[in-house]
Amino acid sequence: MPQQPLAQVPQDAQWFWQEHAACREADPLLFFHPQNERGSKRVRRDRAAKTVCAACPVRLECADYAVRAREPYGVWGGLSEEDREAIYARLDSRHYPRGRGDGLRAAGADLGEAISPRALGIA
Ligand code: SF4
Repeated sequence: MPQQPLAQVPQDAQWFWQEHAACREADPLLFFHPQNERGSKRVRRDRAAKTVCAACPVRLECADYAVRAREPYGVWGGLSEEDREAIYARLDSRHYPRGRGDGLRAAGADLGEAISPRALGIA
């Protein structure tokens, strides 16, 4: 597993996409779990955040950034902390995704699964 415990902003990171984020008006507490949140409460909050992400026009830019930065907390681009951990677990630390678009390639099918009806709890 890559040794990168805290978020590291990629050198080529861009932020223009945040101006179009569907979460701009949302409560940030929806996307970041409070300390010790567990079980069904956490599942419900993560699903609510993912539902906002599912309709976000900049979801791919957001997910790419979060995977490349190895954001440790929150739902980004529809990917929960657990979703991202599953992606990181597949990675070879010698080829960590750093360039723009590499995060999406690393996420692969997980990107769609993260906001599937099953993941959102509506199937
Ligand atoms: S994908 Fe989700 S977390 Fe990312 S900008 Fe859009 S709504 Fe916000």
